[in-house]
Amino acid sequence: MDRSRYFDHAATTPVDAFVREAMMPFLGDDCGNAHSLHQWGLRAREAVEGARQAVARLLGAEDPSEVVFTSGATESNNTVLAAFDSVAVSPFEHSSVREPALSRGAWIMSNEGWTLSPPSPVELVSVMTVNNETGALLTMPECPGAMRHTDATQAVGKLAFDATAYDFVSCSGHKFYGPKGVGALFLRGAEPIEPLLRGGGQEHGVRAGTLNVPGIVGMGMAAELAHERRIHDFDHAVALRGALFAGIEPVPDCFVFSPEHASPYIVSLAFAGVQGESLVIELDRLGFAISSGAACSSGSTEPSPVLTALGLSEDLVRGAIRISFGRENTLESVESLAKNLAEAVLALRTLG
Ligand code: PMP
Repeated sequence: MDRSRYFDHAATTPVDAFVREAMMPFLGDDCGNAHSLHQWGLRAREAVEGARQAVARLLGAEDPSEVVFTSGATESNNTVLAAFDSVAVSPFEHSSVREPALSRGAWIMSNEGWTLSPPSPVELVSVMTVNNETGALLTMPECPGAMRHTDATQAVGKLAFDATAYDFVSCSGHKFYGPKGVGALFLRGAEPIEPLLRGGGQEHGVRAGTLNVPGIVGMGMAAELAHERRIHDFDHAVALRGALFAGIEPVPDCFVFSPEHASPYIVSLAFAGVQGESLVIELDRLGFAISSGAACSSGSTEPSPVLTALGLSEDLVRGAIRISFGRENTLESVESLAKNLAEAVLALRTLG
């Protein structure tokens, strides 16, 4: 598999070789439980605390104790949403915010003019930092008196981030070259929150369960690397996005859904008259990985609620593809992707 042809980094990133190396001892001899009192336990504990510092630094947190490890952004989001009775969320949230919000009768904010107009004051407002389907940057509306949560899964490690602007922040390690199944929740001032998982009282009682030491160590190393490489990676993504746009420019009736001022890592677009899924399958045959939407909602036949909330027609929404960039993509691979995409669109339009 040629990883330069993998363009689905918003779904997940490959584990960095240094991350894998950092994790290996904790999958071998360093087998201790981070809460055990013997040497094995202490070594694990030390490694976990090192990772906590690295993640705190990447998030811009003031103190590592403000970071709690979870199984991923889904759990972090669910934990925050479940802890409040009255919640308002944006119409563009990932399903791991939208679904728990809806199950609690949350107020979905209006897309128009970005107003927060719940019928009565709310305790929590949740607005994601970067949308995972379009790369759009969202701003938190003024919400006097309410706690502020952001799902920063597509921003952390990619854009400059300042957790101190929020009360709660969610992120996942596998979106910045860490392993899958580990994430973090930032709690401002290390204020405890009602736990979703109760048990042994780990993570200051906010998240019970034996710590996933190898995963946490991997996320910590990934955070260190992301901190070092952020600006370089960002510039690389800007160059790749430019090459993609240049390559598809000659194709008629192409609609780009990503706003101009967006994360350079994600491009969402559609070619009129061509189904997104047909393009994904055709490009896969040619050795390229792209996506027809959020990976976690694939398999669903419902059109994307996020793109629908943008006011796009159902036809265009069904045509949407997402191309998301990463470290191992090259200008050559993106030019080749654009060329193959243009040819596939032409062929599918002729067939249709
Ligand atoms: N929020 C956003 C914006 C995401 O993109 C994702 C992953 N697709 C998640 C939350 C969930 O992350 P995880 O699957 O790692 O729990």
